[in-house]
Amino acid sequence: MFTQPGDAPGIEPDSSEGIRRMLTEIILDASTNAPRSRQRRIGPSEVGDPCPRRLAYKLMDWPAANDGGDPWPSIVGTATHDWLANALERHNRQTGTKRFLVEERVHVDDSSVSGYRLSGSCDAYDTATHTVIDHKVVGDSVMRKYKTEGVREQYRIQANLYGLGWENAGYTPQTVALAFYPRGGMLGGLWVWTDVYDRTVALDALKRLGTIRDALIALDPEARPQMWEHLPAQPSSACRFCPFWKPGSADLAVGCPGDLTTHQATTAA
Ligand code: SF4
Repeated sequence: MFTQPGDAPGIEPDSSEGIRRMLTEIILDASTNAPRSRQRRIGPSEVGDPCPRRLAYKLMDWPAANDGGDPWPSIVGTATHDWLANALERHNRQTGTKRFLVEERVHVDDSSVSGYRLSGSCDAYDTATHTVIDHKVVGDSVMRKYKTEGVREQYRIQANLYGLGWENAGYTPQTVALAFYPRGGMLGGLWVWTDVYDRTVALDALKRLGTIRDALIALDPEARPQMWEHLPAQPSSACRFCPFWKPGSADLAVGCPGDLTTHQATTAA
């Protein structure tokens, strides 16, 4: 029988609950099938992940252990990226310049450093100031944390990996910038972190990736699942965003138990 999104017994399709279910279902379906959700190869945003085990799962293209939770923050982030790309392209058109290189794919490693061909789409490169710009859309508490404690090292690595990609393309990046937009606030809350471009940050991260690759080759957890435990984990509160997080798991081939504190806090709530 043909069914409409949100159809459920006893719920009228034009009631508020029927409409809510219909919209939620359509959004979830679109989100699950979005290009970013289906991206399988490791990208510059993931290389600096502090947890070697998570990187190992990703490199092995291991099946996810959870459904990723509520996708709304990432939908808002993706939509904001699209809007910002259009705004920068509009600026180029209005000024008759090509000041901003927007959403261009850069090649970070030809596999000679990490063993992987690594490329990614960079949010923007400002040719007037030779600045790599990466947009981040964050909630209030995260914004406060980054301002007071500094930004995530993973982000700093990501920005420098893009810098290396631009350098490989013949440009001369000088600065890396992370532009943090408040997810629920006003444009006045935009906060920008900058640093001098440092190719050694990128190269060190690629070498670390190569070390994890070597460990995977030596341990071969696909054939010997008990070897997963030899890939070190770095559990943290970020485990709850990890696709391989399976609270309470005793079998690392199925999922990683991650941060017990987070697990207990989540299950106790
Ligand atoms: S759940 Fe946590 S510790 Fe386990 S792989 Fe993911 S990030 Fe690492």
